[in-house]
Parts: sequence; structure tokens; C-alpha cells
Amino acid sequence: MKVDWLIVGAGFTGSTLAERLATQMNKKILVVDKRDHIGGNAYDEHNTDGILTHLYGPHIFHTNSEKIWHYLSQFTSWRSYHHHVLAVVDGKEIPLPFNLNSLQEVFPAGLANVLENALISEFGYGKKVPILELQKSSNEHLRFLADFVYNKVFLNYTRKQWGLRPEELDASVTGRVPIYISRDDRYFQDKYQGLPEFGYTRMFKNMLSHKNIKTMLNTDYKEIIDEVQFEGMVYTGPIDAFFDHRFGNLPYRSLEFKTISENKPRIQKAGTVNYPNDYDYTRITEQTILTGQESGKTTLIVEYPQAYVPQVNEPYYPIPREENRILLEQYLEEARKLKEKVIFAGRLADYKYYNMDQACGRALSIFDEILKEEKNGSH
Ligand code: FAD
Ligand code: UDP
Repeated sequence: MKVDWLIVGAGFTGSTLAERLATQMNKKILVVDKRDHIGGNAYDEHNTDGILTHLYGPHIFHTNSEKIWHYLSQFTSWRSYHHHVLAVVDGKEIPLPFNLNSLQEVFPAGLANVLENALISEFGYGKKVPILELQKSSNEHLRFLADFVYNKVFLNYTRKQWGLRPEELDASVTGRVPIYISRDDRYFQDKYQGLPEFGYTRMFKNMLSHKNIKTMLNTDYKEIIDEVQFEGMVYTGPIDAFFDHRFGNLPYRSLEFKTISENKPRIQKAGTVNYPNDYDYTRITEQTILTGQESGKTTLIVEYPQAYVPQVNEPYYPIPREENRILLEQYLEEARKLKEKVIFAGRLADYKYYNMDQACGRALSIFDEILKEEKNGSH
């Protein structure tokens, strides 16, 4: 078989590049994925109760990028959805990210007001402050607050999720859920938020429907690579697996998902409830709150974090910390030495904690580069 590009992985990264290269440059593409479906970790399907379920954990789309939103809007319409998360702290469900409303719920009014005023005068209303930064405050009220939030919200959740303490990871990890000096209870404040109206899988089908794109599922690219001739390759799997783990395994974090179906219309008060201090799972998400389906039945997904073991479970998260970056650098060096044209991209190949919009944005910028190179080459 002869194609212009072999694309390994049919997730956001691979599908965006396949779509762009096929429709904008008339390239012939073979997309290969070892799973039995397209969409990567954003894949969804209807379960036996007819509830649209995210097989690899809850996926809420959010972005500030007009470019990315408009790009994906060619392949889907959107259900407007603003995600809310509650965290169980001392038996109470409080809004997350921890904000001024959370503050009022966990402390008596007098103390809450003192802490609220201290936050506003130190950082300003509307500011977002990562927990590891708040801990460094010189104001003793704020250090008291930081200790409380660190111990009740971050420490045990992070230990469960990563097997590490917050300070053993890059600050950007806990910085994803900063203390928010605001009364806005939404989990994200991005300009564009929602879920594909008919699901992610339908959107991916539309992206990959071009006549120049062939999709081969249930296939590890290593099984077919010798039978395909191609000019370039995009690889979106784990970068260490590409090089047969020659410098050792790059650590990823995995999860086990347990699905619960109930004959009730709704169970939770918010799309997701986090359990920082209780149980072995980190959070429970109610799918019908995300999709808005009203059928009298509901489905919940419970997430149990685990170490990643190649061939045994899935590598869901890169683990952002210095020692892993050093190992990653060795693999990146190997990638630079390759004689063949191979582009490494995506959450697993870049080893970066991308959200969906970032994976799509990265693929769009790679496409711009390829287009530029081709234009320069042809002059
Ligand atoms: P992937 O989706 O991982 O796709 C890579 C594909 O490559 C996979 O399908 C894999 O099977 C395939 N592959 C790997 N190796 C091979 C091989 N050797 N041969 C053939 N195929 C191969 N982002 C958000 O924006 N909002 C959210 O709410 C959100 N929630 C998330 C919840 C969880 C539990 C997880 C794990 C992630 C979440 N994300 C969320 C992140 C989102 O899943 C990623 O940003 C996105 O899926 C990355 O796309 P990708 O194409 O880079 O990688
Ligand atoms: N986090 C936490 N407690 C919470 C929520 C988040 O400690 O209740 C920390 C934890 O380290 C987590 C990180 O913040 O891994 C990022 O959270 P996010 O909800 O963005 O994780 P994701 O949705 O990517 O799994």
C-alpha cells in the first residue's frame, strides 16, 4: 500500500492532522489505531441503557481559542454545557475550584470574611492562585487558608491520583485547579465550552470521512509498517514505546473506570463529585448531567487511579516532573536523529498534559508548518 502520510492514532491529534492533510493538501492518508474504535480517549458510545458514555472518563470540551472552536465546529454542533464539580470536604459538598463560596461553606462567617478580605487585598478579586503559591504567602491568615485547602482538597487526592504529593509534581498540575477569588462556581472559565451535540465519536467520524483517508482499526502500526510505503509519519502513541523503551519506561499514570447504571433520573448535584479524602477512587461523574439525556435512567463513572503497566492497562496521563523530563529528553534526542520523517505529537508522544483543545491546537500548528514547508519546497 502506498500513501503520503501514515498516521498512528485516531485521537484528537491524529484525526485533526489526517483531516487537514487530506482536505487542504489532497494527501492520501492511512490512519492506524490499535483500538477497535476512532476518537482515542475522547471516544464515546451509547451503553445498553441508551446513555452516551465516555469510555475513558469524562470529557468536557473547553477552550479560549476561537481558531480551535471554529475548526471543530465544522464537524459537530455543540450542546452548551458548563461543568460544575463539588468536592466532599468534612462531609460537605463544596464548589471546586475552591472559591469564595467554598470558603463561606467551610468556615464560620466571621473567619470566612477575614479570609475572603485577605485574599482579595493580596491578589485581587477574579484572580486565580495555585495552591503551591498561596502556601508561600507572607500573610498568616492566607497561610492558614492554604494549609486547610492543601490538606483537605489537594494532598490526598493527589496522592491517590498520582501516587505522589503535590510538591513532587510540576506546580502546573495542581495549578490546573487554582484557588479562584470569585463566586463563579464553574470548573472552567473558558470562552467556549460544551460537548459535541451527538457525541465525540460522531464528530471524529465526520473528520475522518474524506475519501483520501483510510482508517485501519485493531492494528498496531508495527504490524503493518513494512507493508506500507509513505513519505511521512505522524506518531501519537507513547514516545518510549516507539523506541522499544530502550532507555527504560517513561512513567504514565493509568486509571480503572467502573460504570454504575441506576434506574433513577439523576443522582448527583453536579456533573462530577470529587472525594479527596475518602475511598480509593478520586471522583464520580454522572454522564447524563454532561449529555443532558432524560430517560429516567442514569450512568455514573467512578475513577480508580493506578500505575501504568505497558501491555496491561492504558497510559492516560504523562507525569509532569523533572526526573521524567530528563528521560523524555533522551527519547526526544533519538527522535531528532531519525532519518525518516516522523512527527511526534499528542499527549503521549509529546509527553505533555494536554487538554483536548491543546491536542487539536498542536495538530493544527503542525499542519501549518507542513503546509509552509511544502510551499517553500515547491518554489
Ligand atoms: P489519544 O486520545 O491518547 O490518542 C492516541 C491514540 O493512539 C489512541 O487511540 C491509541 O490507541 C493510539 N495508539 C497508541 N499506540 C499505538 C500503536 N502502537 N499503534 C496504533 N495505535 C496506537 N481533555 C479535555 O479537554 N477535557 C476533559 O474533560 C478531559 N478529560 C479527560 C479525562 C481523562 C480520564 C483522561 C485520561 C483525559 C482527559 N482529557 C480531557 C484529555 C484528552 O483525553 C486528551 O487531551 C486527548 O484525548 C489527547 O488526544 P491525542 O490524540 O493526543 O491522544
Ligand atoms: N486536584 C486535587 N484535588 C481535587 C481536584 C484536583 O488535588 O479535588 C489536583 C490533582 O493533583 C489533580 C490535578 O489537581 O490531578 C488536576 O486536576 P484536574 O481536575 O484538572 O485533573 P484531570 O481532569 O486532568 O484528571
